[in-house]
Amino acid sequence: ELPLISTIRKTESSWPAGSPVPYSALCATFEKIEGTTKRLEIISYCSAFLLEVLELSPDSLLTIVYLFINKLGPDFEGVEIGLGEAILSKAISECTGRSLAQIKADYRTTGDLGTVARDSRNNQPTMFKPKPLTAEGVFKNLKAIANVSGVQSQAKKVGIINMMLAACQGNEAKYLVRSLEGKLRISLAEKTVLSALAQAAVTFESRKAGDKKPDPAKAVKAEEILRAVYSEIPTYDLIIPAIIKDGIMNLRSSCQLTPCVPLKPMLAKPTKSITEVLDRFSDQKFTCEYKYDGERAQIHFISESNTSRVYSRNSEDMSAKYPDIVSAIPKFLGQGEHRPSSFVLDCEAVAWDREEKRILPFQVLSTRKRKDVQEGSIKVRVCVFAFDLLYLNGKSLLQTPLHERRELLHSHFREVEGEFAYARYEDGSSVDQIQEFLDQSVKDSCEGLMVKMLEGDESGYEPSKRSRNWLKLKKDYLTGVGDSLDLVVIGAFYGKGKRTNWYGAYLLACYNPDTQEYETICRIGTGFSEEVLESLYQTLSKTVIDQPRSYYSYAQSNATAPDVWFEPTMVWEVLAADLSLSPVYKAAISVLGRGKGVSLRFPRFIRIRDDKAVDDATTSEQVSEFYLAQASASGGNQGGFNEE
Ligand code: ATP
Repeated sequence: ELPLISTIRKTESSWPAGSPVPYSALCATFEKIEGTTKRLEIISYCSAFLLEVLELSPDSLLTIVYLFINKLGPDFEGVEIGLGEAILSKAISECTGRSLAQIKADYRTTGDLGTVARDSRNNQPTMFKPKPLTAEGVFKNLKAIANVSGVQSQAKKVGIINMMLAACQGNEAKYLVRSLEGKLRISLAEKTVLSALAQAAVTFESRKAGDKKPDPAKAVKAEEILRAVYSEIPTYDLIIPAIIKDGIMNLRSSCQLTPCVPLKPMLAKPTKSITEVLDRFSDQKFTCEYKYDGERAQIHFISESNTSRVYSRNSEDMSAKYPDIVSAIPKFLGQGEHRPSSFVLDCEAVAWDREEKRILPFQVLSTRKRKDVQEGSIKVRVCVFAFDLLYLNGKSLLQTPLHERRELLHSHFREVEGEFAYARYEDGSSVDQIQEFLDQSVKDSCEGLMVKMLEGDESGYEPSKRSRNWLKLKKDYLTGVGDSLDLVVIGAFYGKGKRTNWYGAYLLACYNPDTQEYETICRIGTGFSEEVLESLYQTLSKTVIDQPRSYYSYAQSNATAPDVWFEPTMVWEVLAADLSLSPVYKAAISVLGRGKGVSLRFPRFIRIRDDKAVDDATTSEQVSEFYLAQASASGGNQGGFNEE
């Protein structure tokens, strides 16, 4: 899929070597990217620009990559930008002298505050030419805005935005405002930026070595290396300086899994039957582990600096939410020569009843406070169930087979009742044995089993991958779709009868990371208690927007449109009886290529997924996989299967 490096176009907008990258040059690249839908073209515009930065202003490469992906730092630092319509409209109005009513009216027509800002700015007479913006300057200001707090924070933010807007020329205001909103809307996915970065680096290095054209095989390899390293150590703050210093082909040795930089967790594929599990592993050794129902917790520890951290599935730092886990760490370390000096553990934190000595349901865990937790006032206790060891005593274990990782886990840590335990497992092999263990897991308040490759190359830990080497077998889902889906709430319908005061049903969407769009998948009105409906109304009514976002993909018919649209903020876990093709919904429409989207039949609300960001929702590709798996299970009649 890679474009040949020779097709990289030269950008027209050079700047003197060693001087700061003009923001206008970056915006010119954004404009080109926005003008095409072809992925290869997008990659070549992006890599041409990154190459130019490498050649002229390498110190700015990190900033440029962040501006491309519209982030302010690594996910685990949690510094985000995403200003609302109100504050941005105010800033545009103040800076351009247009009334707030005019700005709002324009926004209603265009649906894009970026273009409103650009047009308002360009139609404004200016006395003298402002000093041009630099990419570094804009990035610094974005960070400053994200970090503003305390009294008058709104006014301070508006002040910084105004200062930048006043200096904007051409299309700069459009992209600046979109960056401030947190959505560039140019269909530039982060994985595309990674591909482009790999290509730019390879081209740069071969030019330096005197080769005109880099070897395409090397470009493919470079991208593979960059992806693997990024999933192990997902921070450009370390990767980009390493590329510049040691070259992209050496990245694997110069940048490795490091404690206190959370890696992207390995994910499992869903299965619907024990025979499906046996078919997958056939004669290879596998193991079944209890699938605990709590919150994923990646625990990092460095003895030398006495640092301990707990990270979520999403790489969010949860150390403040779980001070009890942090303070329990010394208790579960092995002793003597088995005392680890550093480690990364993959675990599930599960609510625990200390009196009854048993696991409590996930619902109990979800009542635990998320912020300002004082250890003394914790009501919901947790027990950590460790299922993997990824790093030990300065060494990454990602390539080490699972059975060895498990031995190291057992020898370097010790169980502490109700606080730390190894995940229960059985290396069974027959249908009956697995069935028995599955039943037992449910009796012990677990969700079912995780079945994992135990030995050989395929049993390594694959960061960020949804792998066939980990299968989840959930008791509830053995019939139906095989797994629940995690969907984004984007709209609602007013209730009737008993539900008149709240929303009675909601519109849900899956996420397509390639187009960065939310694609509608179903209307849902089942599975909610009255309390839940009321509290959802309280939360979601605050996120109503005048019109659907431009990155929502939905059927443009009044008959199916929701009464209100929301900002995408919340993810729900949903179960369905099955999936069907639908002319009304858009989920997986481009992935599946059937001219129709996929929709859920009889969807039922299970719970809110606080631990997932909206971009972590079930993807269009997964929806398509679910649909195809179901179609093939029903006799391969994919074309006509369950068509609405
Ligand atoms: P996904 O990320 O696959 O969409 P999810 O976050 O919705 O999944 P599940 O589908 O329920 O969660 O299953 C995977 C999760 O199960 C892991 O992220 C982890 O938190 C949890 N888990 C519990 N026990 C284990 C175990 N023994 N091995 C691996 N994961 C486990």
